[in-house]
Amino acid sequence: MDASTSTCTCGSTEPHRVARRTLADGKRLELWSDGTMCTAFGFIVRGSPRPRTEDGIRAAMDAGWLVMGECEIFDFDDIEELIAAARWTATRNGTTGDVRDRFWSQRGANKVPKPVWSLASGGERWWVLPRLSVLRGLAVLDTGMAGRRRFRVMTRVAALGEDVTFAATGFEFASLREVTLHLAENV
Ligand SMILES: [Zn+2]
Repeated sequence: MDASTSTCTCGSTEPHRVARRTLADGKRLELWSDGTMCTAFGFIVRGSPRPRTEDGIRAAMDAGWLVMGECEIFDFDDIEELIAAARWTATRNGTTGDVRDRFWSQRGANKVPKPVWSLASGGERWWVLPRLSVLRGLAVLDTGMAGRRRFRVMTRVAALGEDVTFAATGFEFASLREVTLHLAENV
């Protein structure tokens, strides 16, 4: 059965609007019974699912309702990322709170630059955050010890000429992913 003849829970087989929300910037977002999300003018928004099967529509509607539940605090420009977060959450049977967490962790992680490592003695390596970023003054020390690798977030305490000294902030993680998420909260 193709999408155009699938039956909505209301019994109608014609694609129709099932929800409409006003976003933080005043723009409109609509959820349609075929699983798409549209503007007030009927344009399918970037990132919207375009399902072609019953299962696809069901999955799109699960994500769509999560988007409808959260979108009013977001601007139109955020919607593509919000839909991505909702689709990720829907496949894990998550809640609207999970959508928000996913949205912010993804957005933050995307803003943290890619690590550039300098090798130090004893198998350690350093990633000093760029001087021209909001994370300047921070560094990550990878202790590099096999089996119990730790990533320590460090902060610059003194700069005498070329000599830079860093001290532990107390934040320590087992994976680069966790460090990145932690740094993202500071972006
Ligand atoms: Zn309906």
